[in-house]
Amino acid sequence: MTQIALSSLYQQLILEHYRKPRNKGRLPAATVVVHMNNPVCGDDIQLYLAVDAEQRVTAATFLGHGCSISQASVSMMTVRLKGKTLAEGLALAERFTEMMHGSKEAARDRTLGELRALQGVSKFPVRIKCALLGFDALQEAAKRVRGQAEEAAGSQ
Ligand code: ZN
Repeated sequence: MTQIALSSLYQQLILEHYRKPRNKGRLPAATVVVHMNNPVCGDDIQLYLAVDAEQRVTAATFLGHGCSISQASVSMMTVRLKGKTLAEGLALAERFTEMMHGSKEAARDRTLGELRALQGVSKFPVRIKCALLGFDALQEAAKRVRGQAEEAAGSQ
C-alpha cells in the first residue's frame, strides 16, 4: 500500500472512532476513575476502569469531549485495555508514547492495534499531548490502584 493510501485509511479510522466512540459512557462498576484535561486544546477525558483483585481490567469506558485525536485515541485505548492486566496496559502506554516520539519500530508493533492509526500525529508536536491524554489517565489510574493495594496490605 502506498504511503498516501495508508494515511487516508488511518484518517478514516480516526474519524470513525471520533464519530462512533467505543465504550463511551459512565461505568457504575468502576473501581478507579481518573479525570484528565489538556487546556492547550480543550480536550477533556474521564476514564473509568473496573480492575479485579488480579489487577486485570475487566471493563474500561470513558466520557469526554475535545478534538478528534484525543477522543479517537482514548476510544481505541479502551478497546485494547479490556482483559489486559494493568502492567500490560502500562506497557501499551509506553509503546504508544514511543510511537508518538517518532519510533518507527513502535509504529510497527501489532500490539498497538488500531492505535497505530495515530502514528502520523508524531509529526505534529502540539497534537501529541492530545493523543497521549487517555494514556496519561491510564498511568494515573494504575498509580492509584497500586496505592490502594499498598494501603490495603498495610492495614492488615
Ligand atoms: Zn486535542
